[in-house]
Amino acid sequence: MTETFTAQPARASATRDIPAAITAIRETLGERLAILSHHYMRDEVVRHSDLRGDSLELARRIDGLKAESIVFCGVFFMAETAAILRQPGQKIYIPSHKASCTMADQAPAGLVRIALERLSASGRRIVPLTYVNSSAEVKAVVGAAGGSVCTSANARTMLDWATKQGDAVLFLPDRNLAMNTARDLDIAPSRQHILDIRKAGSRIDLDAADAADLLIWPGSCCIHHKFKAEDVAEIRAGDPGCLVVVHPECRPEVVLAADSAGSTRHIIQYVEDAPEGATIYVGTETSLVLRLKKQFEGRRTVLPLGMSFCGGMGRVTEAGLLRTLEHLDAEPVVEVPENVACDAKIALERMLVACS
Ligand code: 13P
Ligand code: SF4
Repeated sequence: MTETFTAQPARASATRDIPAAITAIRETLGERLAILSHHYMRDEVVRHSDLRGDSLELARRIDGLKAESIVFCGVFFMAETAAILRQPGQKIYIPSHKASCTMADQAPAGLVRIALERLSASGRRIVPLTYVNSSAEVKAVVGAAGGSVCTSANARTMLDWATKQGDAVLFLPDRNLAMNTARDLDIAPSRQHILDIRKAGSRIDLDAADAADLLIWPGSCCIHHKFKAEDVAEIRAGDPGCLVVVHPECRPEVVLAADSAGSTRHIIQYVEDAPEGATIYVGTETSLVLRLKKQFEGRRTVLPLGMSFCGGMGRVTEAGLLRTLEHLDAEPVVEVPENVACDAKIALERMLVACS
């Protein structure tokens, strides 16, 4: 690896051409730099990326990247995943260390550890399966306990995998993704139990948990949980021919009312594959919906199911990206402690192998 390049900060001025400054740095660094963006990034950021994807695509591509500096435009857990899967010597940056995922924050590693211990006390083998929207520490707890990771794109495959590894699965942190995936796999609601994790896990009902095959952490994403089945019904009443596609972090009744549900990649593909002239309502983060609306203007009508911006994703701005690029040698890199990274990597690799 060669030394990290630091671009000279261009003149600070109110009229500064930020896109041009980013382009100039990208041209100077060439293949030594890779900018990755999640689909929820705003257009002003996405236009500078070398690679854009959903969580699964981005995680899969890390291993093949040759760049010595990887700037991850997304929320923190995504950059952490990159830091776990990177090659030695590669440096991972994120334009805002405050770009957090509120769902990931709902499963603190200490509480996950306590819950796993309590649930395993009966002697049953509990296999933890964490949604990728979780901290590196949670992934490490899961990896050490023989579990794995899933994304919205492979939740069905991974839940099926997890059910075959032990007596019951602990799915975390998203209850909606858990229930939507359980329905796909015909795991009856009577076989599911949503954990009460209040009071440091002391309220977990161990008898109810022992009787269930799928133990569900009660987290959710406020960006998606706010959509209601009535919203879909109202839209269909006003526009009977329309199509509705949503993310599986939406409530089960919303997913049921929609024509299709899947990862951000799936949603983009669904709009692409829709018939010419179709009207499609999209239930996910609004930055992506607005980009699709613009991209398909004149060919399809793309509308948001409701306005819902992710605050964490919104913390990554074009100006922040430029600041990071200008100060690569001084910016804090995204680091995961070696012991955590080791177990977290085991969990992630189980997923990458099961879905290869
Ligand atoms: P995808 O993996 O579908 O891109 O979703 C990530 C996410 O955070 C959705 O809220
Ligand atoms: Fe997390 Fe929801 Fe934002 Fe996705 S949309 S990053 S799940 S808070």
